[in-house]
Amino acid sequence: MPTRRTVLAAAPMAAMATALPARASEERADVVVVGAGFAGVTAARELRRLGFSPLVLEARERIGGRTYHREFAGHGIELGGTWIYHTQPFVWSEVHRYGLATEPMPSPDAAVARLGDNGLVPATPEEMGAMLQALATLAEQTRAVIPVAYQHLLVDNPFENRSLAEVVDALDLPPSVRTLVDGNLVTLFHGPLEHVAASELQRVLALCGYSPVELIASGAGTKISAGTAALAGAILSDARADVRFQSWVRRIERNADGVRLEMADGSVVKARAAIVTAPLNTLKDITFTPALSAAKQLAIREPHRGAGVKLYIDVAGDTGPLSILAGPDAPITWMATQHHGRDGSLLIAFGPDPARINPLDKTNVQTVLNACLPGVTVRQSIGWDWNHDPFAKGTWCVLPPGRTRQVLPALAQAEGRLAFASGDSAEGWRAFIDGAIESGYRAARDVAVMLS
Ligand SMILES: Cc1cc2nc3c(=O)[nH]c(=O)nc-3n(C[C@H](O)[C@H](O)[C@H](O)COP(=O)(O)OP(=O)(O)OC[C@H]3O[C@@H](n4cnc5c(N)ncnc54)[C@H](O)[C@@H]3O)c2cc1C
Repeated sequence: MPTRRTVLAAAPMAAMATALPARASEERADVVVVGAGFAGVTAARELRRLGFSPLVLEARERIGGRTYHREFAGHGIELGGTWIYHTQPFVWSEVHRYGLATEPMPSPDAAVARLGDNGLVPATPEEMGAMLQALATLAEQTRAVIPVAYQHLLVDNPFENRSLAEVVDALDLPPSVRTLVDGNLVTLFHGPLEHVAASELQRVLALCGYSPVELIASGAGTKISAGTAALAGAILSDARADVRFQSWVRRIERNADGVRLEMADGSVVKARAAIVTAPLNTLKDITFTPALSAAKQLAIREPHRGAGVKLYIDVAGDTGPLSILAGPDAPITWMATQHHGRDGSLLIAFGPDPARINPLDKTNVQTVLNACLPGVTVRQSIGWDWNHDPFAKGTWCVLPPGRTRQVLPALAQAEGRLAFASGDSAEGWRAFIDGAIESGYRAARDVAVMLS
């Protein structure tokens, strides 16, 4: 991805460790939570509920982690995680708990079009029916191997070792239908289907009650009107936690009595226990003493494969409601309208490969747009380079064939006075906000048990 964006996104954070004066302070805390994403804020709140006093150490200058609510072109946008749905029990319960309004997005009235060799073609009802039928076939395959959603790790599933590309190939779909299926799945797994275990799709199909319609709606159906930051903030406020920003934890030592955490600026916090919520792809950057278990080292050896791009494009004029799907070779595999009107339109887009589109390069984005929306003028565009962001190093957790058993449940296993939580290691909606919240609950319970 684009060097300019890398500089913009990563330089201030990379500079932080050297630019800050050495604090070399040492303080004591009850229980530390490393990271203030959804796993971290939930863990902090649950720790408080269980009678502990949480201290949150966050490397960035904001909460939310891989969710990032911003204003752009006069609209609230989400550079990271956005959509939630009633199929996701943890996050759905949280929005009700804090009385947050939700709204459908993108435009529910948008007719789907697919990108063919000669530009956009409206998807016919027959093609849409065939796409849903293809996903229904995969759902029935799923039901046979994962009969109960949250028990997917208890079953011996041969699809964990097969790629999603292989399984979709076996459906032998006509090209037009395959484009619609690929557009959905390549977007859902943020990269080529060859890099995705077929069981990744099966897990979410099972969580959606084996319904392709619910699957599509769960991936992108409803958002929090006030933004993800409103929910993360509400949870954190309930935690009544001390929060230290610009606190990049680089070393964690533990013994029988507690933990010692050392920040990039040399300051130290000692605590009775800690919960680490750093994303899977960044765990290698923390030095653990003693070393993490062999199982966990195996789990973090290779990065997860969620490494695509998400961007917002502000264009002149009213595009009308859009939902465009394209095959895996296109720079954008799904694009839809968040807003459209005479004042302009705001498009949201996903692609599998950041090398094919640079959200901060208006000329590049215009060229990509010309292929599907000729005549539409780009005014500005934006995205966040999660792949080069040192505190994320990827987007959402997508596991390739053969890795599921290595990564889970080892990643979530507590070790001595250390517990672990992350949307990347959740049991159910792993790779989603819901999974991050689920993992925060579990890790707080782990701490309660270890300190009992
Ligand atoms: C582009 C994009 C689109 C997405 N779309 C959706 C969606 O529509 N719906 C959905 O449900 N999910 C979506 N997701 C996934 C979802 O955002 C994540 O699964 C979830 O937010 C992860 O939460 P977390 O708390 O586990 O991790 P994070 O949010 O990554 O939080 C971890 C925190 O730890 C901090 N940290 C890291 N290392 C250290 C360290 N060493 N010391 C101190 N702090 C540290 C980080 O700065 C961060 O704040 C998307 C993600 C991306 C990137």
